[in-house]
Amino acid sequence: MSDVPPVLIVEDDLSLVQALTLAIETVGLPVEYCTSAETAIDLIKTRSYGCVVLDLILATGLSGMYVVEAARSIAPEKRPSIVMMTGGNVELLRGVDRDIVKAILLKPLDLELFAQYVLVTYRRALDLKSAAGAVTEVPAVRAYCGACGNEMPSWIAGTDNIFDQWIDTPCTNCGKTPRGISPGSTV
Ligand SMILES: [Zn+2]
Repeated sequence: MSDVPPVLIVEDDLSLVQALTLAIETVGLPVEYCTSAETAIDLIKTRSYGCVVLDLILATGLSGMYVVEAARSIAPEKRPSIVMMTGGNVELLRGVDRDIVKAILLKPLDLELFAQYVLVTYRRALDLKSAAGAVTEVPAVRAYCGACGNEMPSWIAGTDNIFDQWIDTPCTNCGKTPRGISPGSTV
């Protein structure tokens, strides 16, 4: 099942990342995540994703709109569909490219509804029949450093004490911790 492209979550609020990961895994899709637009842009250009779940406003660095722009430059058959999340500022999304951004969800999210949106978007992006798409055995969550993009160990979704250790574990490449690069995080 290694040819099943994952869903990429781009969100700087790590407690929300955890909730979103669990919700998406529940509908049977593999998940990867990162905390910055910069890392997300590198990832979507080099790896294949069925769907990108994107926070519009990220605490540091580029906004989610730059990820949309980067997706636009990818060939249509390789381009991931985007589900955008925002806590407001819907005005910023006026004129957004609806060929790429398939859904705009307002925070706080209804996680069950969120997962269904992601599943539908994922299946449409990969042109899967409604009965297909969900994998029987979900691969491990993969995580990428928001500062340098290096792959780093991920926490096991839903296990709070491991998550608490994980956010203070430095990246082996640049030494930054998930907590350190996500000042907007509420954890
Ligand atoms: Zn790093």
